[in-house]
Amino acid sequence: MKKFLLLFLIPLISYSQSEYPQDYFRDPLDITLVLSGTFAELRSSHFHSGLDIKTQRKVGLKVYTAAEGYVSRIKISHYGYGKALYITHPNGYTSVYAHLQKFSDRLEKYIKECQYDKESFEVEVFPSPDELPISTDEVIAYSGNTGGSGGPHLHFEIRDNQERPINPMLFGIDVKDTKQPFVSGVYAYPKDENAIINGKNERVPLRLIPQKTGDYEVEKITAYGNVGFGVTSYDKQDLAPNNNGVSNIQTFFNGNKSLEIDFKRFSFSETKHIKRLIDYEYFKTKRSRIQKLFIQKNNPLSLYKDAYDNGYITIEDSTSSVYKVRIQDYKGNETWVNIPINGKKELLDKQSQEQDISNKSLIYSDQSTTLQSGNVTVNFYENTVYDDTMIDFKVSSDTLHLHEDQIPLQKNFYINYDLSNYKSEHLDKVFIARLYGYYKKPSYVSTKRKGNTLSAGSKTFGIYTLAMDTVAPTIEPVNFQDKKWLSKYRYLKVKIEDELSGISKYRATINGKWILMEYDYKTNMLMHDFNDNIVKDTRNELKIIVTDNVGNSSTFEAIFFRK
Ligand SMILES: [Zn+2]
Repeated sequence: MKKFLLLFLIPLISYSQSEYPQDYFRDPLDITLVLSGTFAELRSSHFHSGLDIKTQRKVGLKVYTAAEGYVSRIKISHYGYGKALYITHPNGYTSVYAHLQKFSDRLEKYIKECQYDKESFEVEVFPSPDELPISTDEVIAYSGNTGGSGGPHLHFEIRDNQERPINPMLFGIDVKDTKQPFVSGVYAYPKDENAIINGKNERVPLRLIPQKTGDYEVEKITAYGNVGFGVTSYDKQDLAPNNNGVSNIQTFFNGNKSLEIDFKRFSFSETKHIKRLIDYEYFKTKRSRIQKLFIQKNNPLSLYKDAYDNGYITIEDSTSSVYKVRIQDYKGNETWVNIPINGKKELLDKQSQEQDISNKSLIYSDQSTTLQSGNVTVNFYENTVYDDTMIDFKVSSDTLHLHEDQIPLQKNFYINYDLSNYKSEHLDKVFIARLYGYYKKPSYVSTKRKGNTLSAGSKTFGIYTLAMDTVAPTIEPVNFQDKKWLSKYRYLKVKIEDELSGISKYRATINGKWILMEYDYKTNMLMHDFNDNIVKDTRNELKIIVTDNVGNSSTFEAIFFRK
């Protein structure tokens, strides 16, 4: 008897396109929409939550509200979205505009008052609905490159009333795309130790044979047992060369639907689990993202619409079957991958897989684990790893070797260093660093100090050590000199840097009064706008204090004149 188990993992209300208001939201720019990033595109540690709209390699383009409404949130941060504006609309949706250069005059005045009030460049405010109403087609801001943006563009989102981002294209925002998605790799995965693919019990790359239609045939494979597949796929639009994300992937085994992944909407609470969708180890070693077309345990993603046997297929001996993948972009252009499978119970190519298990420790997914050696303790709470995992754990003097960054983690583990036996007059300048990249460059990990213990949380396996920073940050004027007249200057620019632990805070005053200096970490620049009208005297004393992450601080002082 054949047993059928139909698994609807997470009940998902399915919306058809017509359930989203059409022609309600307009393009936020008045140039032809060209995207450098699509919705739910795969990023390093999250799904992209909006559209990245190209701004002709420039900053300062007018940004229009997508519809009438009111400003419900303004957030300015050094990293992430930089300067971001949230507008809530009468229909319950909120549109989001990020990496802005600046806001419209009215909003700029509002937010500067908040900044001067809080004496901070970084602010987050939630105005009430009647404070900052926004009318149809109003210019609300100018596009920029602030925060974690790698080039001028507008990041645009639409969120529902539960803060879940939705593909803005579902609302009729249109981008020219007549090209079908393309595939750069297909892989087969054994589900367990009994599965065999082309004689192997490991991830096997399959040979793709591109067809004239844009579809792909795959060289026939032999397989036996429970098997899953993975695919690397991208979509190009007509007006840009960027490799963007696809919108929907479906798989079929002998004509029956096996799995569907739909990238139309997700919630921020699940976005980190992208590490469970992609083959994390492959991504970390080969820099390309294989989307796994099967669902392993501890995978809470709501993108899976339905799944038969979690997307795995079962191949019996002496059978002939076919597995197909259909990949669609948002406009419905589609690409098929056909994988013919010869069911055959082969002998396994037994490779001597004798593993050296010294220095290995087992971390359980459903319970907490503590590893300890010398003066180092590492705590894993439950649900940190997705699967029970053997990891390398070794401490030699101050250096902790904690596996390699090839295993995805759901949340932080915690490293604790006991400094009781250390003698140094600079013990307060010691911090936990991760040795990063090929050159093992130490980078600061946010370190807490409690008595003689230093602790830090991290979501990344790798090498950690203690480092010491006794050098204070540097502060260099960029466009002025001491005791000069700056009457015609619009901006006051200063460069601030800190070699090892990095900059933690800065504070600038003129004649004792706090001034707003915008900080751009990408250019190490602090910038004051004289149009803030804080400087009213002729003789002015500028004072800037910059502090690094272990508390070393520098003070810069200069006098300038203005009339
Ligand atoms: Zn973006």
